[in-house]
Amino acid sequence: MRVSVFGLGYVGCVSAACLASMGHEVVGVDVNQVKVDLVNDGKAPVVEERIGEVIAEVVRTGALRATGDVREAIMDSEVSLVCVGTPSEPNGSLCTTYLERVTEEIGAALAERGGRHTVVFRSTMLPGTCLNLLVPILEKYVGGTAGVDIGVAVNPEFLREGTSVRDFFDPPKTVIGELDAASGDAVMALYEGLPGEVFRVPVPTAEAIKYADNAFHGLKIGFANELGAVCQALGVDSHQVMDVFLADRKLNISPAYLRPGFAFGGSCLPKDLRSLVYAAKRADVSVPILSHVLPSNSDHLQRAVELVERTGKRRVGLFGLSFKPGTDDLRESPLVELAERLFGRGYDLRIHDANVSLSRLLGANREYIETRLPHLAQLLADSVDEVLEHAEVCLVGTRDPAVLSALPHGGDGPVIIDLIHLPDADTRRTEPGYMGLAW
Ligand code: NAD
Repeated sequence: MRVSVFGLGYVGCVSAACLASMGHEVVGVDVNQVKVDLVNDGKAPVVEERIGEVIAEVVRTGALRATGDVREAIMDSEVSLVCVGTPSEPNGSLCTTYLERVTEEIGAALAERGGRHTVVFRSTMLPGTCLNLLVPILEKYVGGTAGVDIGVAVNPEFLREGTSVRDFFDPPKTVIGELDAASGDAVMALYEGLPGEVFRVPVPTAEAIKYADNAFHGLKIGFANELGAVCQALGVDSHQVMDVFLADRKLNISPAYLRPGFAFGGSCLPKDLRSLVYAAKRADVSVPILSHVLPSNSDHLQRAVELVERTGKRRVGLFGLSFKPGTDDLRESPLVELAERLFGRGYDLRIHDANVSLSRLLGANREYIETRLPHLAQLLADSVDEVLEHAEVCLVGTRDPAVLSALPHGGDGPVIIDLIHLPDADTRRTEPGYMGLAW
């Protein structure tokens, strides 16, 4: 199929590259010229496992190209995937500005195009957004009826940053919210050959399913971290507790997100929980469990600050800055929040994150770092050694092998504060100079 993908961020560039590698002819569209140029040079606009090789290959074969020209992309395609961001507004509600803008642009181009074209929304949006906000925009521009003259579907994305290429080819499920059967069929044709169960549901149901997933992931992490903190206080190995808890398959518990570790963050879970709670409040529905997931997460983050305070040391190293290992994504990163809390308390901080530095060098996240995090940019170190030489206490929030192999053992060097339950945590916890947030 000929496909246009709007938004070349984490979701869009992975969808565009993977669809191209499945044999589709794909054009990616972004308003950010840096991302367009990177893709056309065969380079990934984000740091993710395998994405660099996939993009290099599909750009080389001509299956993927990028442009800033919406009209050209629409003229050249039968299906559009909308993957623009839907961040939080300051009051916690869902920001639909990018969605509305891109839908207007697509609608204006479709009015010129003629013939049936299907618009597939992959961005996360609250139930009702597609039918009540976006479909009227498309119908206004095209002058026709959605489901008859224009195809419309909602196809939420379930990839996890860090393993997104793997997740694309082996999805946990495929959800298609279809306005009419032909719209759903167009989405089915896109993913033909991929494993996993497919659910064809009404459009608002598809929108809601994504919130069910993200709210539950946040809840699981909060649950595991609170349990971990209580176990630690009572001298119990929380990972052993969870090993046994998770072995109980009769209750059908997936182990994902249930390992005590650090606070969650990123561009999805916090903002999706916020907008869900906001929507519930507006609808006058009381949701005490959901409203307390983010405060629980914030309390957990504070435990890391308290561990640093307990050491009495002032020179601190932080390994990892992105919101989780394996990505360069800094949005709502709990490690950024931790760095800021420490920086704000006057600690002498140095930070190392190879993915973040690589992305800064490529230019992909340079603007984000320089405009949003100038206070932390100056603390970024080029090498692991630079941080180890500086620090009296090191917080480890990454699984970067270069960091793990350099960490000293047995109290020989800085105190190690393990935020994520390192692979050798069981040995380290018997050594002096090791403190764990999640034992
Ligand atoms: P992102 O911010 O990384 O990327 C969005 C891209 O859209 C940016 O490159 C931006 O320049 C571009 N854009 C904005 N307006 C545009 C326009 N008018 N035309 C073309 N491009 C435009 O966002 P993301 O992390 O990829 O997330 C996208 C959506 O997918 C969000 O709704 C998010 O909640 C959802 N989602 C994200 C993930 C994830 O792990 N990041 C997973 C599942 C779902």
